[in-house]
Amino acid sequence: MKNIKDRCPICQGYKVEATTTFTVDLDFGVVVVRHVPAIVCEQCSTEWIDDVNAEKLESLINEAKVKHSMVEISEFPYFEKKVS
Ligand SMILES: [Zn+2]
Repeated sequence: MKNIKDRCPICQGYKVEATTTFTVDLDFGVVVVRHVPAIVCEQCSTEWIDDVNAEKLESLINEAKVKHSMVEISEFPYFEKKVS
């Protein structure tokens, strides 16, 4: 279970669940993935992406490498809205 009450190791601010835009600069172009679920520090905006989502990001980046597009903009396709 994820403990979002954890404090930020950098500034001791509170971490909150949010989404972020992930950008990676490859040799041939740029890959932008929007709405990636992440834990974000309220205070210093440091972002943490968990392992599961990081793996999914990696496969998106690999897809972009195969396509070799100059600019690839994706929505994070695996985002599951939590039912509250
Ligand atoms: Zn912080």
